[in-house]
This record gives sequence, C-alpha cells and structure tokens, in this order.
Amino acid sequence: MEKKILDWENIGFSYIQTDKRYVSNYKDGKWDDGALIDDPNIVMNECAGVLQYAQTVFEGMKAYTTEDGHIVTFRPDLNASRMVDSAKRLEMPVFPEERFVDAVVQTVKANAAYVPPYGSGATLYIRPYMFGINPVIGVKPADEYQFRVFTTPVGPYFKGGVKPITICVSDFDRAAPHGTGHIKAGLNYAMSLHAIVTAHANGFDENMYLDSATRTKVEETGGANFLFVTKDNKIVTPHSSTILPSITRRSLMYVAEHYLGLEVEERDVYFDEVKDFAECGLCGTAAVISPVGKVVDHGKEICFPSGMEKMGPTIQKLYDTLTGIQMGHIEAPEGWIKVIE
Ligand SMILES: *Cc1c(COP(=O)(O)O)cnc(C)c1O
Repeated sequence: MEKKILDWENIGFSYIQTDKRYVSNYKDGKWDDGALIDDPNIVMNECAGVLQYAQTVFEGMKAYTTEDGHIVTFRPDLNASRMVDSAKRLEMPVFPEERFVDAVVQTVKANAAYVPPYGSGATLYIRPYMFGINPVIGVKPADEYQFRVFTTPVGPYFKGGVKPITICVSDFDRAAPHGTGHIKAGLNYAMSLHAIVTAHANGFDENMYLDSATRTKVEETGGANFLFVTKDNKIVTPHSSTILPSITRRSLMYVAEHYLGLEVEERDVYFDEVKDFAECGLCGTAAVISPVGKVVDHGKEICFPSGMEKMGPTIQKLYDTLTGIQMGHIEAPEGWIKVIE
C-alpha cells in the first residue's frame, strides 16, 4: 500500500476526503449487511428526521501508526458501547457493538494510505455516526436510519509545542439535569456553538460549564472532561450524570491509579475549590490532555501554579504514559489497543 503524500504536520483539523466510507441502512426493523462505498455524499429526503428534529448521534476516535509500524485504534469497544447508550436515549435502533468495531476496522483498512506515519503527530480521525433518514414531520422517531463511518486525516494537536489555555466560566448551560449531556449527540453541540463563539470573541479558548441546576459545580467544557491535580498530587475529576463519559478521561484515571500509583477521586467538584488545585487539564480524543493555565470567572482570575508555559508535572506524566501506551512504548492494559493491520 502506497501512503498518500500529505504535509502531515500542517494538515490541521478540517475535512479531507478519503477513499472509502462504510454505510449500513436500517429499514423494516433491521440493519442490512453494510458495505464500503466510494460516494462521500448522502442523498436524503428534504423531510429526513435528522434534518427536522436532529435525531443523530456520533463518535470520535483515531487510528495511528505505532512505533513498530502497526495501524491501531484505541479502545474502540468503548466507543461502540457509548454509541449504544446515545442511540437508546434518542430512540434510535442500536448498531451492534461488534459490528461497530468491524465497520471501523474495515473503514480504516480501506483508507490505510491516509494513516499518518509514526512520529508525525498526525492521526486518521474516525467519525462513526447514525441518523434518522426517512421523512418525519410529526414529531416522532424516524423508522429508517443510516449508520456511517468516514475517516479524515488530522494534523498534530499541539503543533509547535504545548501551550496551556485560558478558559472562562460560561454564562450558558451545556446540559440540563436528566437531559442529554451524557450522550454524544449533535444536538449538544448545536446549542454550544453560540457559547463557544462568544467565549472566543471575549478572548478565551474554551468554556467551563457549571451544573445548570445550582451553578456551583464544575461539569465539563464543550467537548472535553476536566481532570484536576490537587496540591498533594491526587487526581480529581468531576462526577455528574450530565457529563459525557470521556474514554480518554476514564483511561487517564486508570493510568493514574495503576501506572503512576496516584490516588484518584471521581466526585462533585465545587467551583469554589478550583482555586486550590495545582494543575488542570481537559481530556478528549483530540488532544489526550490539553493543559489549562487559567480560569476566568467574570473578571476574577484563577491561575494554576503550573503556569502558562508548559504542562504541570503530573499532567505531563499522565500525558506521557497514556500516549506511550497508545504508541506502543509502554505495555497497554489488556484490550486497550486494537491492531487493525
Ligand atoms: C467526545 C466528548 C468528550 C471526550 O470524549 P473522548 O471519548 O475522550 O474523546 C468529552 N466531552 C464531550 C461533550 C464530548 O462530546
């Protein structure tokens, strides 16, 4: 297989069409066999359920090349089961978990030429998603669905070095109690767009959302979970039923406990205690951990001792250990690395 020649360091994060995508259709109560196809465009009725009432869920993951030359993905079984949870909450049919993983493997294999080489920092981003496709005008779940997986190569997240970010406490809410904050649905992102555009206009990189019921507890950002380090080196992450359960965050908590021997806590995190933490990071597939240097709450600044120049020491260790596991320098827990070829 001949690799595509792309400027891997500089491709950024935008859609680049690759050769094949996986499609399976749900009709008359069952999924068809699914297939890889060439056409990147979707033709659907003007009244398709997804277009009218936003019945769509998605996942995000990466394929990359390890040091020994294998193409792998990280814990795709967890993406599969999270998509089951997302689909159920939006009254969509479940795409079977083993078929999800198989579809991801097939799509990555078919686009292996676009998997960036080891050491480039670039990856092949994988986007599985599902949506209601038949006409729906009275409000109800669609009867027909399409599940798809496409891939697009993306550049290194920290181009030109890691730079801690500044975030602001948002005046908007991300998720309601008993709402959809815990599932990966496009609708959660649609309503976050105004909040992130506003944050950027005010000079901030991201929003910190508080729990919408009391506005006293830390939830997450628009697309990443929080992880804090206490001054006595414990790892703390907010517990809430309205946070999206990040696979990166769950993996980092495991690494903290089992590889680094740190104490870990998943619990309510009050905004009032944020000023007492030593380090803060945002966890997600895109960056693994992005360090936060400063939180601004309506003009009041909280500056973490780790500063604005580099990752704090514990977050750096977590980052190095998890990326070491992903790249194959450090032995992975059973089942974390799915070898594609
Ligand atoms: C996808 C997502 C994350 C990160 O999850 P990972 O599985 O680590 O990529 C965090 N928060 C939200 C709201 C998300 O949609």
